[in-house]
Amino acid sequence: MTVNYPEVWDLDTLFPGGSESQELRQHMDDAATKLSGFEESVQQFEVPSAKEDAQKVADLLEQMSLMMKHLSQSGAFIGCLMAQNTQDKKAAILDSESSSLSACFQNSFQKIQQDLAKTEESVWAELLNEEPLRDFTFVLNEWREEAKMLLSEKEESLITALSVDGYHGWSQLYDMLVGEINVTVTVDGEPKTLSVGQANNLSSHKDAAVRKESYEKLEEAWIDKEEFFAKTLNSIAGFRLETYKKRGWDNPLQEPLHINRMKEETLDAMWGAISKNKQPFVAYLNQKGKLLGKDGLDWYDVDAPVTESTQQFSYQEGAEFILKQFGKFGPELEQFAQQAFEKGWIEAEDRPNKRPGGFCTGLPLSEESRIFMTYSGSMSNVATLAHELGHAFHTYALRPVHSLNRSYAMNVAETASTFAEMIVADAAVKNAQSKEEKIALLEDKVQRSVAFFMNIHSRFLFETRFYEERKNGVVPASRLNELMEQAQKEGFAGGLASTHPHFWASKLHFYITYVPFYNFPYTFGYLFSLSVYAKAIEEGTGFEEKYMALLRDTAVMSAEDLAMKHLGEDITQQAFWEKGIALCVQDAEEFISLTSAEV
Ligand SMILES: [Zn+2]
Repeated sequence: MTVNYPEVWDLDTLFPGGSESQELRQHMDDAATKLSGFEESVQQFEVPSAKEDAQKVADLLEQMSLMMKHLSQSGAFIGCLMAQNTQDKKAAILDSESSSLSACFQNSFQKIQQDLAKTEESVWAELLNEEPLRDFTFVLNEWREEAKMLLSEKEESLITALSVDGYHGWSQLYDMLVGEINVTVTVDGEPKTLSVGQANNLSSHKDAAVRKESYEKLEEAWIDKEEFFAKTLNSIAGFRLETYKKRGWDNPLQEPLHINRMKEETLDAMWGAISKNKQPFVAYLNQKGKLLGKDGLDWYDVDAPVTESTQQFSYQEGAEFILKQFGKFGPELEQFAQQAFEKGWIEAEDRPNKRPGGFCTGLPLSEESRIFMTYSGSMSNVATLAHELGHAFHTYALRPVHSLNRSYAMNVAETASTFAEMIVADAAVKNAQSKEEKIALLEDKVQRSVAFFMNIHSRFLFETRFYEERKNGVVPASRLNELMEQAQKEGFAGGLASTHPHFWASKLHFYITYVPFYNFPYTFGYLFSLSVYAKAIEEGTGFEEKYMALLRDTAVMSAEDLAMKHLGEDITQQAFWEKGIALCVQDAEEFISLTSAEV
């Protein structure tokens, strides 16, 4: 039997006709009308004064959740249009229309939040006990808490208004500055003018001279503009710290921890366990240096390939491999993925004008997902496909849950995806057809641990220290370089022969204004999903049902409660994190022993 899964996704079943779709136009017009109706309901809504108001609150929440679904449906669809064809100008126009609808929705949502926060404490407790609201206890308490952490409605709306130019504007300036940079690097004997993104991609080039030159050329560009980047970074941090100060928040970690629904103790336990277990990864870095014929590994060689991965998989073969491995874990995951392949939920074709990277997006009204990536046949493409299918499965697992209870945070967002990726990556290592292949696949896994335990740790250390110093005034570029070097030496536990002092200028994540501390949730998600994976191996196929129950709870409890309820684990303790790290250590050790004959 030969199956042939489509490599191009089917968007027409959602709205026929792409960016010219009449149905989409109608949907957007409906959204605008519905939004005015919703805004009116919000204006008329009064602060609840007795438990009898529960139904009124529930009705408004229902209206809000329908509005959210309606907006996400078109927003996600338009996102797909822009990704599949970066030249689709009509889609870009629709996108800005969709963003402004979302901004209006956001204003009304804040008003609801504020009104609920004004409810008397005794009335509040009674309200949540009423049947129509009981299911939303966690989310409603969270909204109320959030509103209480903020300043008055008037002050907050002033901050929001000023942040457009005074805060987010700096982040846009950063993008412009980076967009202006071009460097010339000699690739295959020819000088090539490259953007920052293109030059960054050379970090995994097989030619050592190319890696070194692209790094050095970029470093020169960062040095050249370092005062501009320092000004930008200081302004973003300054705005954030001043806002925190006015709200009475002393700890710069308060907001990111709140967003990720986790305690500082948990974060400390995670980094503590990682810091204690860096030695095997330092040994890996040293081994890699030797494999590259060097005495110690330089920053620009961290991503270098040590062997060439030759195994290629057609898209159909990749799909079959994923389905087979998913099937070993559980029938629901396999059937779900099969359906995604068959029904054209996946855009994988390798063709021009597609946006780089991969994503998974949910279309709540049709209860479907769409996956975007560019498949060119490597094992790492197969793993990416599994990763995105994992995200889609998370959305699928949440179907029985009310849409207000589906907003999970970044730290647990990567659980289902990393989990699915792990199933496939592990099987790939086991199925490797040659020693060379096995080394390449193992290295891929160890590289991820190095990124999460060392690189991201150094970003976290840098950012916390920078924020502390920024409280006392502007931190000049020279000091930012020192802080970065120090953080890298510590993050990589001295495992590198050279550091990257201007990394703070080169990394976009430090300049994202919508999400503070865009680093530790990645490491959390990676280790958390490893521990779920370890449990799955222990329990076999029977684990699937428990796994789906965990996914269903990802948006209605704290990270600590989620782990306790579904894994029986206390994540405020280092012992929990050490179990996941131990699995990664095994990979590093296996890599060292497999390559020991070659050094
Ligand atoms: Zn992901």
